[in-house]
Amino acid sequence: MSHPNLDDFRSEVRTFFDDVLEPTLDGITGTVARAKAWRAALFDNGLAGLDYPVEHGGRGLGPDHLAVWAEESRGRIPREDATFGIGVGMALPTLRDHGHDGLKDRFIRPGLRGEEIWCQMYSEPGSGSDLASLATRAERDGDEWIVSGQKVWTSGAHHSQFAILLARTDADAPKHRGITMFVLPVEQSGVTVRPLVQMTGASEFNEVFLDEARIPVDWVVGEINGGWATAVALLAHERVQTGTASMSGAATQRSKAGRTPLPVTQLIELAERQGRLADPLVRQDLARLHTGERVVAWLGARNGIHPSIGKLWRTRQGRAAADLAARLAFPASPAWGRELEDGPDAERNADDDYFAYHILNCRGMSLGGGTDEIQRNTLGERALGLPREPGPDRDTPFRELLKN
Ligand SMILES: Cc1cc2nc3c(=O)[nH]c(=O)nc-3n(C[C@H](O)[C@H](O)[C@H](O)COP(=O)(O)OP(=O)(O)OC[C@H]3O[C@@H](n4cnc5c(N)ncnc54)[C@H](O)[C@@H]3O)c2cc1C
Repeated sequence: MSHPNLDDFRSEVRTFFDDVLEPTLDGITGTVARAKAWRAALFDNGLAGLDYPVEHGGRGLGPDHLAVWAEESRGRIPREDATFGIGVGMALPTLRDHGHDGLKDRFIRPGLRGEEIWCQMYSEPGSGSDLASLATRAERDGDEWIVSGQKVWTSGAHHSQFAILLARTDADAPKHRGITMFVLPVEQSGVTVRPLVQMTGASEFNEVFLDEARIPVDWVVGEINGGWATAVALLAHERVQTGTASMSGAATQRSKAGRTPLPVTQLIELAERQGRLADPLVRQDLARLHTGERVVAWLGARNGIHPSIGKLWRTRQGRAAADLAARLAFPASPAWGRELEDGPDAERNADDDYFAYHILNCRGMSLGGGTDEIQRNTLGERALGLPREPGPDRDTPFRELLKN
């Protein structure tokens, strides 16, 4: 496909959102089904993978076209797109930038079209912020890698076909130097996915048990034992994904999607419903939240800004929006929840469950994608050039480290 001029491209994007998308999604129900239909429509209309090479199904466009896309798509992307946050937002760009041709040929086109769902197997019961201490091991056996260990908090593993996996391939090297990044097929007998129930009542993430799971020998991303570099590259995409990119969802759509703060338009409607729109303190908070929404949008539009800044702002916005929702609906808000749904006297608005979900769910935003403290450490070291955090075990072979 040729490079359209920017005005033509803008109309192309508008036409897609105005005329194509809604009829395509009409009548499709269920988060995953709607997410897949959205991605397929995007791909089939030439709007998926704008900055990916044409030979892999992308459009080969540059930053100017991406900026037009960001402007025109903001507030219009179906919230179900969160299903592809890890695949399209994190795994595919890592494969595009660091994967060998075989991996790109195999995974990028179906990934962009939403035919395959991805998850991220980084965290383990003993390794979260100190990710480099991970203990899941992979050993080569002929034409395969055999992987054993445990992962946790694996978002979306229950409906994923593939995972970006970090595993230890050299326990004699220091912890950062003996890790390899793999593509793991999730649907196999060596992988057991067990959903965890969150306080929202939803089960969005999982424990994953790897018991001699198998990976084709060349499904390695980057260098063997050089996985820390590719892991960090993926984390930069994750911070965009869980930061500024998470704000582009449809502002009027009410869906329980994990990463997006409550939009201000919905809080205004809630305030109106509760008869609180004239309350000066409520108005002040709404104005502050509107400003926050704009700030995150502007951060997303700036080139070269450190992604941890957007992630910290998004988290702050999410909490402030949820706190206002809880205050607006008080005293009903602490009682919102599933158990009231069928109660004979329950005078619940259909939206209550939606707000309850976001009030409870926003707490996780400051953890997923790296905690607020880790984002600040990263900003201190990488953006401000402050001295590195002490790491006395940085040069000790992994095998000799004390483990939890
Ligand atoms: C909603 C959600 C989705 C997630 N999805 C995934 C996923 O799909 N895949 C995946 O692999 N993981 C996922 N995670 C896991 C997430 O990456 C970890 O929870 C996170 O990295 C923190 O690790 P931890 O929970 O082990 O906490 P810990 O690392 O044990 O941290 C505990 C506390 O200590 C603080 N702390 C730790 N080290 C430092 C330090 N050096 N300096 C200052 N403070 C420090 C932390 O900030 C935190 O407050 C998800 C988590 C959540 C909440």
